[in-house]
Amino acid sequence: MQDAAQLPDGLQLYQHGRDDAHQRQITLIRDLRRAAQVGGLFLHFQPKVDLAQGRVYQAEALLRWNHPVYGIVSPGEFIPLAERTGSIQLLTAWVIEAVLRQLHSWNGRGLYMEVSLNISAEDLASLTLEQRVGDLLQRYLIPADQLVFEITESAVMRDPDRALAMLHRLRSLGIRLSVDDFGTGYSSLAQLRRMPVQELKIDQSFIRELDDTCGDAVIVRSTIDMSHALGLKVVAEGVEHGETRDLLRAWGCDTLQGYFFSRPLPADAFEAWLKQQPHLAARPLKEHS
Ligand code: C2E
Ligand code: MG
Ligand code: MG
Ligand code: MG
Repeated sequence: MQDAAQLPDGLQLYQHGRDDAHQRQITLIRDLRRAAQVGGLFLHFQPKVDLAQGRVYQAEALLRWNHPVYGIVSPGEFIPLAERTGSIQLLTAWVIEAVLRQLHSWNGRGLYMEVSLNISAEDLASLTLEQRVGDLLQRYLIPADQLVFEITESAVMRDPDRALAMLHRLRSLGIRLSVDDFGTGYSSLAQLRRMPVQELKIDQSFIRELDDTCGDAVIVRSTIDMSHALGLKVVAEGVEHGETRDLLRAWGCDTLQGYFFSRPLPADAFEAWLKQQPHLAARPLKEHS
């Protein structure tokens, strides 16, 4: 039988926990816009290792938020909130400008990098995104092909016609496009073919625990082959082990990203990391395999 004396307490405790979580959400939603305007946002950069060239000239920019009360909040928490409450476009605008400012600084010091950033469904629905990006590229004197937009299949499936039209407009500016988290969304291969993308990123859930014998190996190998047949470069994200790198290299994957090489880092630490990678510098592919 239920212990009547304990039930209200238990309920209350649960209620408190939920109130705290709810309060946190409300606070984060309220403070996000202010962060984009007055501060608290910053970027980390994670290297993408080109296997054919044995070089790093690409990185993904990942948004970070240092909240005045809660400290560092993960994008896994605040991006969905921003998407639900209409402030994602403000964040995306902040990220684009911060990336271009960083590229401007790197270009000025002779450090060539191509940087990808993440775009949400709401950004693809915007009427002015490509115009704003075009203006910023000019203002910061950045060639469009140094910028890559990562888009998930699900973001495109929200409103495919509109999203595809935006992707084509971005593409005609010269921006390169990449399919993020491939394999987790529900879209068809026909849909993939309609997207004017140049790169496909295999989702980390297939990569993190990859080994030669698991079922994921078949999926990963055939995704690499299919991408190449479609003329796309393939990135594997979530590479955590040397064995994973070796398998992906043997299977012809173009680019690797993951904690095995580096976690996402602030720009200065990223630059320092680049300088400490002599083993990555222009080594022929043969030497590795
Ligand atoms: P994503 O775009 O798929 O980014 C990759 C995520 O995987 C990053 O998490 C990265 O830190 C993490 N990661 C990279 N290598 C490894 C690895 O080897 N193992 C593991 N376990 N994880 C790895 P992060 O930075 O927490 O970002 C999470 C997600 O939040 C991103 O996934 C992206 O969907 C979203 N996000 C981050 N920044 C932005 C942004 O500026 N705009 C938008 N719209 N979304 C963003
Ligand atoms: Mg991404
Ligand atoms: Mg993502
Ligand atoms: Mg991803």
